[in-house]
Amino acid sequence: MKILEERILKDGYVLGKDILKVDRFLNHQVDVALLNEIGKAFYAYFKDHGINKILTIEASGIAIAAITAQYFDNVPVVFAKKFDSVNADPDSYETNVYSFTKNRDYSVRVSKKFIHQGDRVLILDDFLAQGRAAAGLIDLVRQGGGEVHGVGIVIEKSFQDGKTYVSSLGVDVHSLARIRAFIDGTPIFEEV
Ligand code: 5GP
Repeated sequence: MKILEERILKDGYVLGKDILKVDRFLNHQVDVALLNEIGKAFYAYFKDHGINKILTIEASGIAIAAITAQYFDNVPVVFAKKFDSVNADPDSYETNVYSFTKNRDYSVRVSKKFIHQGDRVLILDDFLAQGRAAAGLIDLVRQGGGEVHGVGIVIEKSFQDGKTYVSSLGVDVHSLARIRAFIDGTPIFEEV
């Protein structure tokens, strides 16, 4: 997606050898006009799947999912929760996810009220690195008897193995920008 790649080059910056920061437009400050284009692109790719629910993970996925849902006839958006709290629903599906950026496992939950047998779910997230967050979300949907009809990713780092891992779970992954390397602090995109 051309405007996304241009924006990454303009406003993204690389930390260390494998982290891209996009906090100027995607996951801290949010550019709603750009998110609208992202939502349209996900709709264009997944529109024929009869999606009835979008699942993401807090926090950065929420804005992406909420905007995208409007293009899917306002299907409900559910976000998996990472943090325990006293008012967490004890009747939840739960799975463990290894965090690539935090270098530790954390547990992710969705209330059983929000995933049902026969749901046709699109999973969305901001980044794909090793695929653990997406795999955790797939597990939550399947625990609830739902079907995952695709994983939509805004930025995939294709030099990591997330796509192979998620594809091995039998799910189609579609990424809007695919970065194959960082060279001297500059993202290099896959040819389309
Ligand atoms: P994965 O589970 O695929 O290894 O990593 C995906 C999750 O880690 C995303 O939800 C995202 O929050 C975070 N993440 C992975 N790589 C990056 C990155 O380069 N930049 C940022 N900002 N987040 C990342």
